[in-house]
Amino acid sequence: MTPTVNPDRLWQSILDIAAIGPTPEGGSCRLALTHEDTEARALFLRWCHDLNLHHEQDAIGNMFLRREGSDPTAGAVAFGSHLDTVPTGGRFDGIFGVLTGLEIMCALHDAGHRTRAPLELVNWMNEEGSRFRPAMMGSRVHAGDMALEAALAITDDSGITVAGALKTSGQAGGLTPSPRGWACWLEAHIEQGPVMEATNTDIGIVTGTMHARYFQLVVTGEPSHVGPTTMDRRRDSLAAAAEVILAVERIALAAEPGGRASASWIENYPNARGNVSNVTRLHCDVRHDRAADAIAMEASLRTALDEIAARRQVRIDVDPYATFGPVHFDQNLCNLLRRKAENRQLSTRDMTAAAGHDSVLIAPLCPSAMLFIPSVGGITHNPKEYSTKEQVALGAQVMLDAVLDLAG
Ligand SMILES: [Zn+2]
Repeated sequence: MTPTVNPDRLWQSILDIAAIGPTPEGGSCRLALTHEDTEARALFLRWCHDLNLHHEQDAIGNMFLRREGSDPTAGAVAFGSHLDTVPTGGRFDGIFGVLTGLEIMCALHDAGHRTRAPLELVNWMNEEGSRFRPAMMGSRVHAGDMALEAALAITDDSGITVAGALKTSGQAGGLTPSPRGWACWLEAHIEQGPVMEATNTDIGIVTGTMHARYFQLVVTGEPSHVGPTTMDRRRDSLAAAAEVILAVERIALAAEPGGRASASWIENYPNARGNVSNVTRLHCDVRHDRAADAIAMEASLRTALDEIAARRQVRIDVDPYATFGPVHFDQNLCNLLRRKAENRQLSTRDMTAAAGHDSVLIAPLCPSAMLFIPSVGGITHNPKEYSTKEQVALGAQVMLDAVLDLAG
């Protein structure tokens, strides 16, 4: 009996997870290590227990679910993604990858198929970085790109540390985060862009990622009264930040089609009616499919910041706190995914991922690759995020076919 995914079961599991932390518009909000995230993790774990998967968890909250193979000396074939979402999250970003992994385990269980190599399904902690920056925190610590102690000390906007949130949620596991000797890593994900739909592509073969550079900016001016303070005497941090936001957008527009940049987070002090603002914090990032061009975008940003700061007599401090990519995924794995898709008469397209993914951190540890399924309308990080039941099932089946090939 050839293991085959069950489209109904996979779809239902996506709906069941989406029902945890539902938003009024039909999406989900499960920020990392919140009550909602913890509940989704618990449901996921119950499903894994039904399949007798061996559960281990590390000190940063990454979950590992293992199915033993017949060869105890073989490195595991690993796959998965993340169950956390952004505040305006949809039902598929990350969730599709984790539940595809679960469906692979279910299909093998149904077929009574024991692979030669062991399999490991992973739910990475805090991929989105909405609550605790930086993004891809769990995989970052796992890969040694960030020290565990440094990650544990990071706080959210209300001052709660990662360590505190792990403790409260009961998600701190006993393992010390470290690479697990995997033979290879695969991640299935939604495209989060419009290209596959526009080109009628069933399966995206992700050959690599963009290079992204993240910054926290602090604009410091001088507090004053909005009435008596004449315009020429103001050192208004919020007005300066407004110029910075538009400069970020201008830099991205000039770097199209390969470039993107956004200012996506702002915090303003004293944020009071009647006060000229004196401290404004911004988060922004620049990214490009060529690393040199992303670095040039950063240089343009810094030039713009200097000009705005001088003209408006404010100080702008730049904290370049994280980067990712460019990553080039393993060619053999990309070829395998392409072949498995073609074997099922599916159309494929080689793609570059514009978003950050846990696979970026895993790629230096072992041969890694990603598979995309289409996002209807290219909409993502939005309750309208959608892929059809058929698209979901096809992606999962190609993943299963590839896993069977790799694990025997
Ligand atoms: Zn994701």
